[in-house]
Amino acid sequence: MLVLCAALLAACAGSRPPVPATGPMPLVTFVLDDGNDTDFLLGRRIFAEQGAVACSAVTTDLINTPFHMTPEQIRGLEEAGWEIMSHTVSHPHLPFLSPAELEHELSRSKAVLEGLGVRVTNIVYPFNSNNSEVRSAAARHYRSGRGGGASSTSGTSTALYSRHSPSTMTCPG
Ligand SMILES: [Zn+2]
Repeated sequence: MLVLCAALLAACAGSRPPVPATGPMPLVTFVLDDGNDTDFLLGRRIFAEQGAVACSAVTTDLINTPFHMTPEQIRGLEEAGWEIMSHTVSHPHLPFLSPAELEHELSRSKAVLEGLGVRVTNIVYPFNSNNSEVRSAAARHYRSGRGGGASSTSGTSTALYSRHSPSTMTCPG
Protein backbone atom coordinates (compact mmCIF):
# COMPACT_ATOMS: atom_id res chain seq x y z
CA MET A 1 0.00 0.00 0.00
CA LEU A 2 2.79 2.42 0.86
CA VAL A 3 4.57 1.72 -2.40
CA LEU A 4 1.36 2.47 -4.26
CA CYS A 5 0.88 5.69 -2.30
CA ALA A 6 4.44 6.80 -3.02
CA ALA A 7 3.96 6.11 -6.72
CA LEU A 8 0.66 7.97 -6.76
CA LEU A 9 2.14 10.93 -4.95
CA ALA A 10 5.04 11.09 -7.37
CA ALA A 11 2.69 10.81 -10.33
CA CYS A 12 0.43 13.52 -8.97
CA ALA A 13 3.38 15.83 -8.34
CA GLY A 14 4.72 15.29 -11.83
CA SER A 15 1.61 15.92 -13.87
CA ARG A 16 -0.78 18.16 -12.05
CA PRO A 17 -3.91 19.04 -14.03
CA PRO A 18 -4.74 22.71 -14.37
CA VAL A 19 -6.56 24.11 -11.36
CA PRO A 20 -10.06 25.25 -12.31
CA ALA A 21 -10.58 29.00 -11.98
CA THR A 22 -13.93 28.47 -10.29
CA GLY A 23 -15.80 25.64 -8.63
CA PRO A 24 -14.62 22.96 -6.27
CA MET A 25 -10.99 21.87 -6.23
CA PRO A 26 -10.37 18.27 -7.25
CA LEU A 27 -9.19 16.38 -4.19
CA VAL A 28 -7.56 13.03 -3.46
CA THR A 29 -7.71 11.35 -0.07
CA PHE A 30 -5.20 8.67 0.90
CA VAL A 31 -6.44 6.20 3.51
CA LEU A 32 -4.20 3.48 4.93
CA ASP A 33 -6.14 0.87 6.85
CA ASP A 34 -5.72 -1.45 9.83
CA GLY A 35 -3.25 0.66 11.84
CA ASN A 36 -0.06 -0.98 10.60
CA ASP A 37 3.12 0.41 12.12
CA THR A 38 4.36 1.23 8.62
CA ASP A 39 1.86 4.10 8.62
CA PHE A 40 4.03 5.78 11.24
CA LEU A 41 7.44 4.29 10.40
CA LEU A 42 7.33 4.83 6.61
CA GLY A 43 4.13 6.51 5.50
CA ARG A 44 4.58 9.58 7.65
CA ARG A 45 7.97 10.30 5.98
CA ILE A 46 6.84 9.43 2.44
CA PHE A 47 3.85 11.75 2.61
CA ALA A 48 5.81 14.49 4.37
CA GLU A 49 8.40 14.45 1.58
CA GLN A 50 5.56 15.29 -0.82
CA GLY A 51 4.08 17.93 1.47
CA ALA A 52 1.03 15.75 2.01
CA VAL A 53 -0.76 13.90 4.77
CA ALA A 54 -3.00 10.85 4.79
CA CYS A 55 -5.57 9.14 6.96
CA SER A 56 -4.86 6.10 9.11
CA ALA A 57 -7.89 3.90 9.81
CA VAL A 58 -7.11 1.98 12.98
CA THR A 59 -8.58 -1.37 14.07
CA THR A 60 -8.44 -0.96 17.82
CA ASP A 61 -7.92 -4.62 18.79
CA LEU A 62 -4.67 -4.50 16.81
CA ILE A 63 -3.16 -1.57 18.72
CA ASN A 64 0.08 -2.64 20.43
CA THR A 65 0.20 -6.00 18.60
CA PRO A 66 3.10 -7.02 16.33
CA PHE A 67 3.41 -4.89 13.18
CA HIS A 68 0.74 -2.46 14.35
CA MET A 69 1.00 0.98 15.91
CA THR A 70 1.40 1.82 19.55
CA PRO A 71 -0.69 4.59 21.13
CA GLU A 72 2.35 6.88 20.93
CA GLN A 73 2.67 6.25 17.18
CA ILE A 74 -1.04 6.91 16.61
CA ARG A 75 -0.76 10.21 18.47
CA GLY A 76 2.40 10.97 16.50
CA LEU A 77 0.55 10.62 13.22
CA GLU A 78 -2.15 13.00 14.37
CA GLU A 79 0.50 15.47 15.50
CA ALA A 80 2.00 15.21 11.99
CA GLY A 81 -1.34 16.31 10.53
CA TRP A 82 -2.81 12.92 9.68
CA GLU A 83 -6.40 12.10 10.42
CA ILE A 84 -7.04 9.06 12.61
CA MET A 85 -10.17 7.20 11.55
CA SER A 86 -12.03 4.28 13.08
CA HIS A 87 -11.72 0.90 11.39
CA THR A 88 -13.84 -0.91 14.03
CA VAL A 89 -12.72 -3.00 16.99
CA SER A 90 -12.07 -6.39 15.36
CA HIS A 91 -12.32 -5.79 11.57
CA PRO A 92 -15.52 -7.80 10.93
CA HIS A 93 -17.92 -7.83 7.99
CA LEU A 94 -20.30 -5.33 9.57
CA PRO A 95 -23.49 -6.28 7.63
CA PHE A 96 -23.42 -9.77 9.14
CA LEU A 97 -23.38 -8.63 12.79
CA SER A 98 -26.31 -8.45 15.18
CA PRO A 99 -27.46 -4.93 16.03
CA ALA A 100 -25.71 -5.18 19.41
CA GLU A 101 -22.47 -6.41 17.86
CA LEU A 102 -22.62 -3.68 15.22
CA GLU A 103 -23.13 -1.02 17.86
CA HIS A 104 -20.16 -2.36 19.84
CA GLU A 105 -17.85 -2.29 16.81
CA LEU A 106 -18.86 1.25 15.91
CA SER A 107 -18.96 2.86 19.34
CA ARG A 108 -16.17 1.01 21.16
CA SER A 109 -13.56 1.65 18.45
CA LYS A 110 -14.28 5.38 18.59
CA ALA A 111 -14.14 5.38 22.40
CA VAL A 112 -10.82 3.50 22.48
CA LEU A 113 -9.18 5.90 20.03
CA GLU A 114 -10.55 8.96 21.80
CA GLY A 115 -9.25 7.44 25.03
CA LEU A 116 -5.78 7.63 23.49
CA GLY A 117 -6.29 11.35 23.03
CA VAL A 118 -6.96 11.52 19.29
CA ARG A 119 -9.94 13.02 17.50
CA VAL A 120 -12.11 10.54 15.59
CA THR A 121 -15.01 11.68 13.40
CA ASN A 122 -15.02 9.24 10.47
CA ILE A 123 -14.95 5.50 9.84
CA VAL A 124 -13.62 3.19 7.13
CA TYR A 125 -15.67 0.00 6.78
CA PRO A 126 -13.58 -3.21 6.93
CA PHE A 127 -13.54 -5.12 3.62
CA ASN A 128 -15.47 -2.14 2.15
CA SER A 129 -18.46 -4.00 3.54
CA ASN A 130 -21.51 -1.94 4.39
CA ASN A 131 -25.22 -1.67 3.72
CA SER A 132 -27.99 0.73 4.63
CA GLU A 133 -28.29 -0.65 8.19
CA VAL A 134 -24.55 -0.28 8.77
CA ARG A 135 -24.49 3.24 7.34
CA SER A 136 -27.47 4.25 9.43
CA ALA A 137 -25.85 2.92 12.63
CA ALA A 138 -22.52 4.54 11.75
CA ALA A 139 -24.23 7.89 11.26
CA ARG A 140 -24.99 7.94 15.01
CA HIS A 141 -21.24 8.03 15.74
CA TYR A 142 -19.42 9.37 12.68
CA ARG A 143 -19.66 12.23 10.22
CA SER A 144 -18.94 9.89 7.29
CA GLY A 145 -18.17 6.31 6.36
CA ARG A 146 -15.93 5.08 3.59
CA GLY A 147 -16.31 1.81 1.80
CA GLY A 148 -13.55 2.16 -0.74
CA GLY A 149 -15.56 0.63 -3.58
CA ALA A 150 -17.18 -2.67 -4.41
CA SER A 151 -16.82 -5.41 -1.84
CA SER A 152 -15.36 -8.50 -3.40
CA THR A 153 -15.75 -10.68 -0.35
CA SER A 154 -19.01 -9.91 1.37
CA GLY A 155 -21.59 -9.91 -1.38
CA THR A 156 -23.28 -6.97 0.31
CA SER A 157 -24.27 -3.68 -1.20
CA THR A 158 -21.65 -1.02 -0.66
CA ALA A 159 -21.26 2.71 -0.76
CA LEU A 160 -17.95 4.27 -1.68
CA TYR A 161 -18.56 7.19 0.60
CA SER A 162 -21.50 8.22 2.72
CA ARG A 163 -21.51 11.61 4.34
CA HIS A 164 -23.61 11.68 7.47
CA SER A 165 -23.14 15.32 8.37
CA PRO A 166 -20.99 18.27 7.28
CA SER A 167 -17.39 17.12 7.06
CA THR A 168 -14.63 18.32 9.32
CA MET A 169 -12.07 15.81 8.12
CA THR A 170 -8.39 16.57 7.93
CA CYS A 171 -8.51 14.46 4.79
CA PRO A 172 -10.98 16.17 2.49
CA GLY A 173 -14.01 14.17 1.57
ZN1 LIG B 1 -8.82 -3.15 6.83
